[in-house]
Amino acid sequence: MRDKEIQRLIGKEAKRQNDTLNLIASENYVSKDVREALGSVFVNKYAEGYPHARYYGGNMYIDEVEELTKKRALKLFSLSPKKWNVNVQPYSGSPANLAVLHALVPVGEKIMGMSLAMGGHLTHGHKVSVTGKLWRQVPYGVDSKTGEIDYGEVMRIAKKEQPKLVIAGATAYSRIVDFKKMRAIAAAVGAYLLVDMSHFAGLVAGKAYPSPFPYADAVTTTTHKTLRGPRAAMIFSRIELSKLIDKAVFPGLQGGPHENQIAAIAVALEEAMKPAFKKYAAQVVKNTRTLAEEIKRLGWRVISGGTDTHLFLLNTASGGIGGKEASDALENVGIIVNKNTIPFDERTPVDPSGIRIGTAALTTRGMKEREMKEIAFLIHSVLEKASEKEKKAIRERVARLCRKFPL
Ligand SMILES: *Cc1c(COP(=O)(O)O)cnc(C)c1O
Repeated sequence: MRDKEIQRLIGKEAKRQNDTLNLIASENYVSKDVREALGSVFVNKYAEGYPHARYYGGNMYIDEVEELTKKRALKLFSLSPKKWNVNVQPYSGSPANLAVLHALVPVGEKIMGMSLAMGGHLTHGHKVSVTGKLWRQVPYGVDSKTGEIDYGEVMRIAKKEQPKLVIAGATAYSRIVDFKKMRAIAAAVGAYLLVDMSHFAGLVAGKAYPSPFPYADAVTTTTHKTLRGPRAAMIFSRIELSKLIDKAVFPGLQGGPHENQIAAIAVALEEAMKPAFKKYAAQVVKNTRTLAEEIKRLGWRVISGGTDTHLFLLNTASGGIGGKEASDALENVGIIVNKNTIPFDERTPVDPSGIRIGTAALTTRGMKEREMKEIAFLIHSVLEKASEKEKKAIRERVARLCRKFPL
């Protein structure tokens, strides 16, 4: 590369990624093929519109790429093109959710989503997001005792508030969402059901998590979390809704699609159809369960008592260390997590009561239950406020794990 300044930073970041244990639940490592597609000549092309209906010339190969991506997306989730359509143009998860709301819900109406403080995403109607300014959020949360969604309570709120659209799926919820019950809640008030599977899409693809498709009217997903593709998103919709969705994405919200990203999604989708990916998804869940169980055994509180997915929330404050202090101390030894509020948090989002832990990235590196047990012990030692000498030993153990499982 001629630009030495950027080349230096790329090199540094590659080294950082290789030399740290990444437990950020929303991150993963893509294949070289995905990166090759991202950096391909498709980056040079304008393609406003949809296949065979573009506003620019020269789109014959772009059309093929986008059609192939759509075909693979439907195939991966076993969807019939007679019943489902997929839009692969959203730049990322947030604009994908905005596009669905824009397509299906008149501005000013109510949308029901899990509140941010309980594990929902900003774009499910939080007031600082445009989704909370253009629509009115009807929030739901989890039960204070179980840490799980109380579907009876969600039904009660829906009947009282009469939202036009209900969103299932979250960003910090470790349990399987009961899509059938969420469908019944939406149906009871005549609302659409949107499932945002951004976090667990890779688990659905690998058959380690139930499919939302039998119950949803539309499904959004990022492609860069457990699905292990480029930073982008897709919107699946029942065929009756797909014209509205397509119009909401373009020209409603976006201009030219990022066709290099779309080509990279296609590569990731093909990878996710391989038997190896099914093994990967199953291993992710095994790893997360092992890590959560082991941390619990060492005396820490896991929200909802465990996990069915690639992530869980850890209540660090109950063990005497705030979420910010915990994540800073872990970063100091090369273990990367994010601080996170826990349900009914009494502290603030900038210094919440917990951290979120996920294993999708480390599982991509090849780590298994044995490494998870070791990492649980390392996290425990750091949160127990290890001495400088102990921290030095922990750093060495982190480095050894990283060397053993290179990127
Ligand atoms: C990550 C995420 C998004 C947003 O994705 P971005 O690509 O960061 O915009 C939306 N919804 C959920 C549930 C997510 O986890």
